[in-house]
Amino acid sequence: MTTFHLITLFPESFESYLQASILKRAQEKGLISIKYYNPRDFVVIPKGKEPSYSDRRVDNRPYGGGPGMVIEALPVIKAIEKAVGKKTKKVKIVFFSPSGKQFTNETADTFKKYTDIVMVCGRYEGIDARVKKAFPMVDISVGPYVLTGGELPAMIMIDSITRRIDGVLGDIQSLEEERVASPDVYTRPEVIEYKGKKLRVPKVLLSGHHQKMEEWKKKRQK
Ligand code: SAM
Repeated sequence: MTTFHLITLFPESFESYLQASILKRAQEKGLISIKYYNPRDFVVIPKGKEPSYSDRRVDNRPYGGGPGMVIEALPVIKAIEKAVGKKTKKVKIVFFSPSGKQFTNETADTFKKYTDIVMVCGRYEGIDARVKKAFPMVDISVGPYVLTGGELPAMIMIDSITRRIDGVLGDIQSLEEERVASPDVYTRPEVIEYKGKKLRVPKVLLSGHHQKMEEWKKKRQK
């Protein structure tokens, strides 16, 4: 079982994607589990005081100036501490950043060996960098563009790692890189009509000639 621990100010943004299809079934089968930790819940509130919204604020102005707000280190550190828990687990901590190491299928394979993966999702201008001094963690980027938060990168990683866990896909051959998979795929019917044009399935795919079909798929990959 792999447990993904998500440190996020917006846990609600994960629900619709993680509660559908393959990822939902992987959770039902007990192959993965997802846990949420909101840094707002780790802000220290004076004893006896009913916390207001502003008491739960975790963002603050950046030192050195500039636009946007920065998430404070301590609530995030405490959330990670809670997620890491007992030292007996094989834990890997990910810090999302657009300038981190590019995430790939190979990275997903290396993550498979951990029982617990903690993902630290930034928002606004990012998280106070001292978080990275408190725990060893790896900076990961999901691509050369800037997103609003680390929640989408976390879902990308969860999806990609989960597909590679034994028992998640019915057949290991379903993993695209284990076979010749074409980016162009077709299904019934053989011919469809659209705006007066007949659109046909390529003949080779109807031929039943295994070798020719594989060669056709290989060519489409380029
Ligand atoms: N100013 C920050 C910088 O240049 O690193 C970007 C902040 S971005 C608006 C907010 C958060 O989204 C980041 O802290 C990071 O957690 C996440 N993020 C945005 N783009 C990302 C990407 N391509 N890969 C991974 N995480 C990303």
